[in-house]
Amino acid sequence: MTSKAADLLLSDALVVTMNALGEIIPQGAVVIQGRDIVAVGPSEAIRGEWQAAEVVDCRGMVILPGLVNAHSHAPMSLLRGLADDLRLDVWLFGYMLPVEREFVSPAFCRWGTWLSCAEMIRSGITCFADMYYFEHEVAQAAAQVGMRAVCAETIMKWPTPDAENFDEGLAHCREFIEAWQGHPLVIPAVGPHAPETSTLELLRGAAQLAAEYDAPLLIHLAETAGGVEETRALFGVSPVEALERAGVLNGRVTAAHCVHLTEEDRAILARYGVGVAHNPTSNLKLASGVADVVALLRAGIPVGLGTDGQASNNDQDLFEEMRLAALLPKGLHQDPTALPARQALTMATIGGARALGMDHLIGSLEPGKRADLALVALDEVHHVPRFDLSPDNLYSQLVYTAKSHDVRHVMIDGRWVMRDSQLLTVDEDQVRAEAQRIATQVGAFLSRREQSLLDKLVALGTLQWTETYEVQVKVGIQDEEALVNRLLSCPEVMVLKQSERKQYDTYFLFANAEADIIRYREDYLLDRGLEVRPNYSLTLRGPTVEREYADSVLLSRSRFTAAADRSLRFYREYFQPQEERRVDKIRRRWRIKYQGVDFAVNLDRLIQPPAPGGESYLEIKARTWSKQDAMQKAEMISELLSVLAVDKARLVRDEYVSF
Ligand SMILES: [Zn+2]
Repeated sequence: MTSKAADLLLSDALVVTMNALGEIIPQGAVVIQGRDIVAVGPSEAIRGEWQAAEVVDCRGMVILPGLVNAHSHAPMSLLRGLADDLRLDVWLFGYMLPVEREFVSPAFCRWGTWLSCAEMIRSGITCFADMYYFEHEVAQAAAQVGMRAVCAETIMKWPTPDAENFDEGLAHCREFIEAWQGHPLVIPAVGPHAPETSTLELLRGAAQLAAEYDAPLLIHLAETAGGVEETRALFGVSPVEALERAGVLNGRVTAAHCVHLTEEDRAILARYGVGVAHNPTSNLKLASGVADVVALLRAGIPVGLGTDGQASNNDQDLFEEMRLAALLPKGLHQDPTALPARQALTMATIGGARALGMDHLIGSLEPGKRADLALVALDEVHHVPRFDLSPDNLYSQLVYTAKSHDVRHVMIDGRWVMRDSQLLTVDEDQVRAEAQRIATQVGAFLSRREQSLLDKLVALGTLQWTETYEVQVKVGIQDEEALVNRLLSCPEVMVLKQSERKQYDTYFLFANAEADIIRYREDYLLDRGLEVRPNYSLTLRGPTVEREYADSVLLSRSRFTAAADRSLRFYREYFQPQEERRVDKIRRRWRIKYQGVDFAVNLDRLIQPPAPGGESYLEIKARTWSKQDAMQKAEMISELLSVLAVDKARLVRDEYVSF
């Protein structure tokens, strides 16, 4: 019998094939020719059949199919550990998006991807699915390192670091796909970020683009309960139904997270053959919840494992994800049999390949598939002792005991990328230095920002801030009705608008911020005593400048005001005030013209804190823009106080918040 020629023969290893039969070959061999696996079997038989240019003795090693990271944001390695233990909205809108707006560039994406690739290879990952910006750079870096990757250019309804709007995002994505289709390692994909960060037009556009090029489509789906609510508010249906209606599910879709699904949602995903990337660490760390993987698998949905970005993980270690994936369902269902170790390893290999629609190429050690493999050493002390009662002993060892640093050699597409724990295709020293250089800049930017409340406000991005100055006087009043009568009967006062409101103010006070105060106001119009039409606003007040004018004290200060589109809890966690105070009051408000000039007249009854002596307060305010103008208005306010017969001895200098 003449033997067949091959490039490489890996012999005498414990070969964990992850094939359909779940075969484990104790004294096994894998034969590689070019970029493909051409044979897998018992070493003795293989050696009799194949003549390889190189034979590597793999005694004491497990050969695994290369692990598949089904969801990541490779460049985010550069933001690892930047802001942790924060709620998702504070983390995302307070830190990630502002930093990304400022720093994400082609170079950022290139260096971040190299860093990620180094880390992923070290933990046995040979293929990753990525969603980020400047995806061309991610693809280029992956290809240079020799990693397999599904790269999706991310598209959002908001401006992103590489697109002003989603039309531009879709256009970039089209160019990206055209540039990379047919590449041996990189599969270009379409990446609408998530249903709640999309519009119907965006989702339709993304679906059409994916269909036109038969490209995969990656998306975040039902990651948080809040996101599901937002999607319902936008589309009137669940996130899964929204994707179905937009035609997205007709394509080759891999959905990340799927934490908050209904039974019906799972049935829809199964019907369309959508793959799911389960990201246990990220979901736990951002407190998004725990995906019910058992229910997903029961519904027949292919499930892979993802690390998500390092900013929410904080590493790219799929061994950790396997372990968590096996442990979480046990706790969730109070059933130790809910998800066995073997199933977790399946998700990290062939399951991930299926979820990405790549199981014809990778995910198991079988002839005809690409030579993507990880060799794991079982020689360290944590691998002692070993049992061999059933294949499950080995699966347990790989999932519950093995560490990513047990991975010694990694091959992708028939090419070694790591031998004896040495990376062969990444200059690790250079990548480390460059990553730290970029991180130092990010750190300096954030620490500058943390010192200025205004910069922190501006960093929230979408808000429109305008600075205004005002003069005002506040005075204690005993007889409210008499004052109102005088105001309304004054011939020189014209009332433009009047309302009664209930205002709940929360003030954030800070230790080192030069008397800056932030006020979060819930302002309800009172209609026959009922609170209607709430309005939420956020105001940053600069230091108050006091000036004495004639017989009244007037204050002027700068204010930035904007609609507060996030919760009080968000602002509290984002600004981290040293102290918080509440002021609740009923306010009767008149917008008036006095001698042709605009003033606001407020008559306030404090609920909390109670006013000393139970009196009410009159406030007269006007916007101003110059010292000259402020003087004129101060004189007019003084006049108005006389007209209203207010006792100027009862002037109050303190703000309610200081009562
Ligand atoms: Zn993600």
